Amino acid sequence: MPPTTSRALFDLTGRTALVTGSTRGIGYALALGLGQAGAEVVVNSRQPAAVDAAVAQLRDADIAARGAAFDVADEASVVRAFEALDRDGVSVDILVNNAGIQHRKPMLELELADWQRVIDTNLTAAFLVGREAARRMVARGRGGKIINIGSLTSEAARATVAPYTVAKAGIKLLSKSMAAEWAKHDIQANSIGPGYIVTDMNEALVKNPEFDAWVKASNPAQRWGRPDELVGTAVYLASAASNYVNGQIIYVDGGWLSVL
Ligand code: NDP
Repeated sequence: MPPTTSRALFDLTGRTALVTGSTRGIGYALALGLGQAGAEVVVNSRQPAAVDAAVAQLRDADIAARGAAFDVADEASVVRAFEALDRDGVSVDILVNNAGIQHRKPMLELELADWQRVIDTNLTAAFLVGREAARRMVARGRGGKIINIGSLTSEAARATVAPYTVAKAGIKLLSKSMAAEWAKHDIQANSIGPGYIVTDMNEALVKNPEFDAWVKASNPAQRWGRPDELVGTAVYLASAASNYVNGQIIYVDGGWLSVL
């Protein structure tokens, strides 16, 4: 039976959420937000010390948190991490594929290795981590939620970020592919497309007066977004409130993609 009050619809108590790349930026904000909605949280990045620090910070905020340091782009590392969670009796009900990197270079100067690294981290990793999570969700028979983090570049290109653009466009259709195959197991897979959000990834752009002015002039909200402004959409897509929503992408961008 679905929950009967609107508050209960968004309650994540009793659920466990793995958020990849959650030691800082958007991932940390989503881990905190899902935790505040009641979920137990598994924090991830490649750096064990940063994972431990984020876990401690979340526990200070009264959130049940644990760490799982692994490289989302390395298949063996992903498989080992899920086996370790299995051994500890941790079942992932909610997966947020958030870990990502950027590499700015015009295509005429772009090395194949950098193209590959960006595609591996931003797209292939979401398949790898999604596959391991979904295999277990299917076996348990309790359904699950997968949220893949896209971008404005899931929809439109921008010079100097071709592999990122192609990966984020792939994320949009990866969610639809997951929905196509896993909806029958009561798994919902959707994407969030954030606009320009102030995080470490964008530090140089925020400090660049020309880029900052372009963001403010192009976006009808006339400002950058904050990581915490993605939490409401993530909680919605992680909760029973979205049980019949599948394969969608929701842009949280201040209206940017809706205007000319
Ligand atoms: P940050 O650079 O601030 O944080 C990225 C996180 O991902 C860190 O925790 C980092 O930890 C982790 N990470 C990177 N590579 C790996 C890996 N191979 N395995 C495990 N963890 C990894 O990025 P943001 O918070 O800005 O971005 C988060 C997501 O949101 C990304 O997918 C990004 O593309 C997307 N996004 C961001 C926007 C923005 O404006 N900021 C806009 C649209 C989308 P470590 O490096 O220590 O492993």
